[in-house]
Amino acid sequence: MSLKQLPSYLHGEHVGPWAVFLEQINRVTPHLGQYAAWADTLRLPKRCLIVDVPIHMDDGTVRHFEGYRVQHNISRGPGKGGVRYHPEVTLSEVMALAGWMTIKNAAVNLPYGGAKGGVRVEPRTLSTNELERMTRRYTSEIGIIIGPDRDIPAPDVNTNEKIMAWMMDTYSMNVGATTPRVVTGKPVSLGGSLGRRDATGRGCYIVAREAMARRGMEMRGARVAIQGFGNVGNAAARVFHDAGAKLVAVQDVAGTIYASAGIDPHALCRHLDAGGALLDFPGTARIPPDEFWAVDCEVMLPAALGNQITVDNASALRARFVIEGANGPTTPQAEDILLDKGILVVPDVLANAGGVTVSYFEWVQNSSSYFWTENDINDRLDRALTEAFRAIWSVAAEKGVALRTAAFIVACTRVLEARAMRGLYP
Ligand code: GLU
Repeated sequence: MSLKQLPSYLHGEHVGPWAVFLEQINRVTPHLGQYAAWADTLRLPKRCLIVDVPIHMDDGTVRHFEGYRVQHNISRGPGKGGVRYHPEVTLSEVMALAGWMTIKNAAVNLPYGGAKGGVRVEPRTLSTNELERMTRRYTSEIGIIIGPDRDIPAPDVNTNEKIMAWMMDTYSMNVGATTPRVVTGKPVSLGGSLGRRDATGRGCYIVAREAMARRGMEMRGARVAIQGFGNVGNAAARVFHDAGAKLVAVQDVAGTIYASAGIDPHALCRHLDAGGALLDFPGTARIPPDEFWAVDCEVMLPAALGNQITVDNASALRARFVIEGANGPTTPQAEDILLDKGILVVPDVLANAGGVTVSYFEWVQNSSSYFWTENDINDRLDRALTEAFRAIWSVAAEKGVALRTAAFIVACTRVLEARAMRGLYP
């Protein structure tokens, strides 16, 4: 058997993203006072489930996909976090993403632990029927550990409302009762929440607004560059634009477009929805992908995959703020370079917490079967993130640490306090 055929959790690469998470825990431990003694709780996930997901392909053959669900911590409540479909997903990545969910949920003070799931697949190579069969089999396989009060999945990279609907239906069929609370990010017609679709991007805007205000900078006219025009990037682009900022560059897998006069994200969405290519969007110039990071702008918003801002490109950044819409876009060594340059980095665990915050609102609305208005949801989201930002900012100022360390201090203290209060069983 060649290395490529071995399951991903047996590859040397499996240490990658999890090693970054461990490094972040090591950096925060000296700041945890009496709770430092409990920090090893965060250095091992609570449980990791690896599943085989076999499906019938449309041509009659059988294919096996490797799937995961990791519950990193459930001290403060049920596991919570998305499911991603990506050909390079590994157990290490899902462990790290689950760990970041623990930190994120606690940083925003949501009553959840942290979890994440993934399937190692390129979903674009599957037909809709194959995608549905794979989603349903994966949901059944992880059904032994998920549940509305145990662990609640949601969308992430390459998963969406439709996939959440299949997951909800599969879980409901298996338990014999319609259970909307088992997933969030559902279609509104199935109990999804208004405002959920744009919530992560809206959250990026809210924390950027707060960060800029503290540096005395205006949102009006601020130049924004966004990597990724998926669920997070496109919503962020619209919300920033509507608040008076100027979108100057967009990078996607297809390439990079730039316009110093600004790009109208609403028009860009219409262009893409109509089947147009990013690179053909009128009024913009194509620039080489590696020039993206050096674009002259105030706000740089990575909203694609992890590991994008590295030691190789960090020194090129000219932005004054990096708002991490993606999970894990900046390596720890790259962050040191950014901080030395005086760039304010709003970390993923705060910057992209808008999505899971509105997921929580969805779960609460499902619990009472009473639904809120979109304005109400957006107002509550704004208050939750503004308050989380304020608390983390003041810890950063008080201790003289970066915002990421401050977010980890706030979050780890909450998680470990709960852990210590619960004590050990038996
Ligand atoms: N996948 C999103 C995240 O990384 C949302 C998770 C959720 O809503 O549970 O935060």
